[in-house]
Parts: sequence; structure tokens; C-alpha cells
Amino acid sequence: MIRTFESPAEYVQGRHAIDQLGERVAPLADSALLIGDSDVLEIVGADAESNLEGHGVDTTIEEFGRESSQVEIDRITELAEDLGTEAVIGAGGGKALDTAKAVRENAGGAMVSMPTIASTDAPTSSLSVIYSEDGEFERYWFYDDHPDLVLADTAVIAGAPARFFRSGIADAMATWFEADAVHRASGDNFFGEGPTRAAHRLSKLCYELLREHGASAVEAVEAGIVTESVEAVTEANTLLSGLGFENGGIAAAHSVHNGLTQLEATHHATHGEKVNFGIVSQLVLEGRDDAFIEDVIDFSVELGLPVTLAELGVEDPSTADLDRVAEAALADGETIHNAFDVTADDVRDAMVAADDLGGKRL
Ligand SMILES: [Zn+2]
Repeated sequence: MIRTFESPAEYVQGRHAIDQLGERVAPLADSALLIGDSDVLEIVGADAESNLEGHGVDTTIEEFGRESSQVEIDRITELAEDLGTEAVIGAGGGKALDTAKAVRENAGGAMVSMPTIASTDAPTSSLSVIYSEDGEFERYWFYDDHPDLVLADTAVIAGAPARFFRSGIADAMATWFEADAVHRASGDNFFGEGPTRAAHRLSKLCYELLREHGASAVEAVEAGIVTESVEAVTEANTLLSGLGFENGGIAAAHSVHNGLTQLEATHHATHGEKVNFGIVSQLVLEGRDDAFIEDVIDFSVELGLPVTLAELGVEDPSTADLDRVAEAALADGETIHNAFDVTADDVRDAMVAADDLGGKRL
């Protein structure tokens, strides 16, 4: 068996890490296109620009339209090509970063991830999740190259709404359960090869850090302060979850997430919130014992993560709706096939059971 492990070239994390942006980008590029949504640009746009310009990196800022859709990727690619920019910097959450990665794939040059929230494990990976302009999951887009630099400023991350931080914890918890399921099923990682022992252990460390520091880190972020728990959980959500999911492989929790995006009512819920429901659904599919599942649900509830469909915006779903979600979760190429040999009926019933178990622990 061939096993593979890939990663970004450089990872930088800490309070005021943004002060190092220019000195770390300058060896990579003389010019940069920075994209972020209007809220993100208000928070980091001026600091990033002056820091880059201060190190001789000619910088252009462009507002991102908030959806990593083909239309938005094409628009920003055209701009990058017109400018002849040597680096694309994505600032914000997963969708802005995924768009920046796609633009680099099209236009070439360097790519920098600057997560301003620790909401997903997108910053380190070499793939984008492409959504429709309405926010429905469409496909994964895989690249040969990883980001050249990932720069996470924990002062910025702790200053963002805690909901994003919590969502990142859910996404990172899924990393362990999914990598472990893939490991047990001898499934593939995202490179279509066998996962390394390193990927499995990093995923486990990710989960351990979340269980040890998750509650206090969420409290700290709610207060807008940076503590060592915030550093530990940011590292878990961003670096360990990113290395873990890509190198360890993902399974049912993310397929359930992708299926849930079929229901318009879930569109206000974050990626991680939907993934959290996917985790419990996966644990039911695995046939985990009641105490194990209740422990995961109780931790989710403690952190304020959704454990029922109603909390995701889906009140009293019809069987037809749940069948639609289950069928989408089992679409060709879905990662559930990495570790599970199940039918749409199995997935639907696992979601119903997860919803029921979650409701009992609220
Ligand atoms: Zn995810």
C-alpha cells in the first residue's frame, strides 16, 4: 500500500501574527491580491495592506462575494490575471479561502490562507468546496499545490463571533471520528492513497485538545480574549483538523453535511453546525453504544453546538426530505463510501435516531 502525507509549506499562529504577513509573503511574491468579504476587510484589510506594502509587496484588495461559487471564482480569476498578481491571499472563513485557492489554481503564483475565524479546516488544505450561488454543495475541487503560507492571528480569531469558533470545533471533532472510521475500514485519504499513522495520531490529538480545552476556549472567545486554551483549540481547528481530514480521509459526517445542504432551511447554519449533526449520525451508523454517543452529544450541548435538526432550522422534516438528504449523502464520489457500506434507508434512519438522541439531551 502507498501512504501519503501532504501539508502547506508554512504555518504561523499567534497573537498579532498578522504583523508578520509582509515579511513572510515578500519571499513568495512581489504583488498580491487580497480577497475578503466586507466585514473581514474592515477588520484586517488596512493592517494587511500596510504590512504587505511595507515589505515591498504591491497589494490590491478586492471584496469577496461570500460564496465559493464558480461565478465568483471566475470573476476574481479574471481580476488576478488582469493584474498579473503573483500571490492570492484569502482572508476570512472557509469560503473566502477556498475561492482564493481556486483563483491561484487558475491564475498561478503563490497562495496564502489568512483565516480570521477558526470555523473550518479549509486553511491548510489543497482542495476547495464549490457551492452553487445559492449555497448548495456542488463538488470538491482538488489541486496539486497546498497553500504556501497559513497565517492565523489568534487576536483576530478571538475577536470574531464565538459561533464561528464553536463551528470550527465541530468540524475538527469530525476529523477524528472520520479519520478513525477510514483507518478502520482501510479507506483512502483525500489523495486517493492510504492514510499514514501520523494522520491518524494527529486527528486523535486534535480531538483530545478539543475535549481538554474546548469549553474554556469558547468562554474565552465569548469574552474576546486570547488564552492558551484558545491557542490550543485554534491549532486543533485549523492545523490539526486540516492535516487530519486531508491526510486521514473523511467519511459519513461530511456526507451527511453535504446532504443537508439540499434543504434550504439549513442554509443559515454554518458548515460546522451541520457537520456536528453529521457526527452523531455517523456514530449511530457505526453502532456506537449509547453512553459513547451521549458523551459526544453532551459535549456538543455544553459548547452550544446543535444536536437536532430543529436547531439547524429543519422543523418536522418529511420522510421525503430526509430521503433526499440521505440520497445526496450517498451520491457517487461522496466520502461516506470511504468507510461505510450503507443504503439511503440506513442514512435516513441514522439521522432520525441522531435527532431523537440529541433532543433527549437538550
Ligand atoms: Zn469540514
